[in-house]
Amino acid sequence: MFPKIRIVLVQTFHPGNIGSAARAMKTMGLERLYLVNPVSYPDAEATRMAAGASDLLDTAQVCESMQEAVADCSLVIGASARLRNQSLTELTTRQTGTQAVQESHHAEVALVFGRERTGLHNEELAFCTHQVSIPGNPNYNILNLAQAVQLLCYEVFQASQEQQPPSTAEQRDYPSLDAVLGFEQHLEKALEASGMLKGASHKSVARLNTLFRRARPDIQELGLLRSMISRMEKQGLACQQAEEKSE
Ligand code: SAH
Repeated sequence: MFPKIRIVLVQTFHPGNIGSAARAMKTMGLERLYLVNPVSYPDAEATRMAAGASDLLDTAQVCESMQEAVADCSLVIGASARLRNQSLTELTTRQTGTQAVQESHHAEVALVFGRERTGLHNEELAFCTHQVSIPGNPNYNILNLAQAVQLLCYEVFQASQEQQPPSTAEQRDYPSLDAVLGFEQHLEKALEASGMLKGASHKSVARLNTLFRRARPDIQELGLLRSMISRMEKQGLACQQAEEKSE
């Protein structure tokens, strides 16, 4: 039902949770499971807990990093019990379902879940375009991993029942994470060459990257930004050469 929506589980500790997550996905029509550095996989406990969804385990993709698991995705939603990254746009669970279904008509989408003990780390949240927290008891809203998967997959299913495919007129196409990272590297290189990063901490670069992640330029806007940088790089080079000649 959802060929372009994947569920990514980062470094799951208990193999039983992988099985339960697969079952939760299948009951809601999702099939694509990505496992980033699972602690034990394949594992008999995972198969046992998957019950009738063990086919999802057979086709699961095992990756070495979260970046690898979401490189081709343009919408990456990180699920955390507590919202830790202040600068990422937050979605409600309902919006998560709606946006995932809408964007999956024309782009790859990932819902990402963290480790049982420590959740998603900051460097992983940095690859997300959005974050979602399932609300609940303010004193204890930490769901079991597979139950969190169940709830967001349910929202995806529910949204799909309510929505019509969007018309092409209102469609905006967003770049993949790979393309955004390529742009950010280009910008950093140009800033470095301009001397702007002299003495500046790497935090400034990380901040700029978060800004672009939050602003979410579409493919055309990102192209425009890249050509602006290339132009300025050429201009800078020309000035440098002129200065060298006059010396
Ligand atoms: N101590 C960890 C809890 C991890 S629970 C932490 O503070 O993050 C394992 C995973 O389940 C989380 O990384 C998250 O992806 C998901 N999860 C659990 N409860 C959630 C909630 N209330 N909202 C969104 N995701 C949740």
